[in-house]
Amino acid sequence: MTLPLALSQNTVNLVYAAAAILLILGIKRLSSPATARSGNLVAAAGMALAVGITLFSPGLDRYWLIVAGIAVGSVIGIVSARMVRMTAMPQMVALFNGVGGGAAALIAAAEFHRLAPGPGGLAGDILAGIMFSALIGSISFSGSLVAFAKLQELLPGRPLTFPAQQVFNGLLFAATLAAAVAAAAAEKQVWMVALLSGALIFGVMLVLPIGGADMPVVISFLNAFTGLAAASTGFVLDNVALIIGGTLVGASGTLLTVLMGRAMNRSLANVLFGAFGAAPSGGGSPGAATSDGQMVREITADDAAVMLAYASQVMVVPGYGLAVAQAQHATRELADLLEGRGVRVKYAIHPVAGRMPGHMNVLLAEASVPYPQLLDMEDANPELGRTDVALVVGANDVTNPAARSNPESPLYGMPILDVDSAANVIVLKRGMSPGFAGIDNELYSNPKTAMLFGDAKASVERLVAGVKAV
Ligand code: NDP
Repeated sequence: MTLPLALSQNTVNLVYAAAAILLILGIKRLSSPATARSGNLVAAAGMALAVGITLFSPGLDRYWLIVAGIAVGSVIGIVSARMVRMTAMPQMVALFNGVGGGAAALIAAAEFHRLAPGPGGLAGDILAGIMFSALIGSISFSGSLVAFAKLQELLPGRPLTFPAQQVFNGLLFAATLAAAVAAAAAEKQVWMVALLSGALIFGVMLVLPIGGADMPVVISFLNAFTGLAAASTGFVLDNVALIIGGTLVGASGTLLTVLMGRAMNRSLANVLFGAFGAAPSGGGSPGAATSDGQMVREITADDAAVMLAYASQVMVVPGYGLAVAQAQHATRELADLLEGRGVRVKYAIHPVAGRMPGHMNVLLAEASVPYPQLLDMEDANPELGRTDVALVVGANDVTNPAARSNPESPLYGMPILDVDSAANVIVLKRGMSPGFAGIDNELYSNPKTAMLFGDAKASVERLVAGVKAV
């Protein structure tokens, strides 16, 4: 049954163009925390428009199937988006991204099944689009699932390697490409199955040797893959919205990959093939010494509050622990209190602090921290040299001086916040557990540093009480 309301393809394409403009405006607004929320809504409206108008495309039928798919997907999407903890966002992004890649691959396989009548039957450009979508979409699907499993700790987070892994991966990729060529030449289903299987296995093998702090780069890389697969599917289906939407995702995913790689001082080749993050475990047991026996100095909340209250400038350095403890509101309250006493308070934001790009900005915006107080790493580092107290709230890897000085360290080369250039450092964390990269932080045994152990929110609240009492 086709819908009686079916519009002409030209009308549908015109609405697609409007949807594309909304998507572009939405992405533009996402680039600043001040406009990000409305940007998300604008982009969502664009997406709703694109999906909605597709239902009025000429020649569509079996609406019940489409409506059922939308209903099931919406329920899963809404429930999981409402349930997910902020700190689990990266795995959620990985999962949703993978599903997109999988959808592109399935459409490619279905179109191949529907259209391929035998050798020479299909136009070359359609065949190329089908093969590309099947290949890239499958890699993105299985790679994203492995990334999800690693971040969710269903698989070990460290790189999983074996001898001659890169040779094996190279041969597997070559065989998968050969299957794609055979599928295009012979137009036989068996080659399509071989292509999909090879690409799925390759996706797994590509992500297994990646671990530690490189995971976010890989996720945005796979995100770019999904975008390209979707765009290519758009060519197969002759759907303008998919081509534009997929290209936007592909381009923004690529840019994000480049920016994150730059923030961590890693090339993409190094991330993909370096098997980095194979960090020696930092021990992880709570206590007042690092795993290699270096003693650390503890401080009471009252003493720390006195230091803060009499400082001229305090730099708050938020990290993943602030997100876990949800300490952003208490931190804002502490900052207000200090500013009321004439202390200058700023926040040093590392680009990969937390577990997703912009994580700290989102949390601090939620607590209505004024944007001018947030300093990027480049601006924060010179300021740290003029800071009396750096208050590190649940940040670890992004402050680790080993990134500057120890070529053996998995973090070596990653630009960090030079917290140790402040006159004093107070670190809020629960114990001596390492951060995401799994390594000790020599900042903690620096004589300038004092540790205030406890949940970050509870500790900040004790500092608030302490400053009030000064
Ligand atoms: P880290 O993961 O290095 O360290 C977080 C610290 O917070 C831990 O040492 C932990 O110590 C402490 N912590 C955890 N829970 C609490 C709590 N409730 N109260 C107080 N402290 C707590 O965080 P960073 O932000 O410094 O670095 C981020 C890391 O994550 C980098 O390695 C980055 O590459 C990686 N990454 C970043 C992503 C991104 O896009 N931003 C995505 C994925 C990974 P303890 O248990 O002792 O309290």
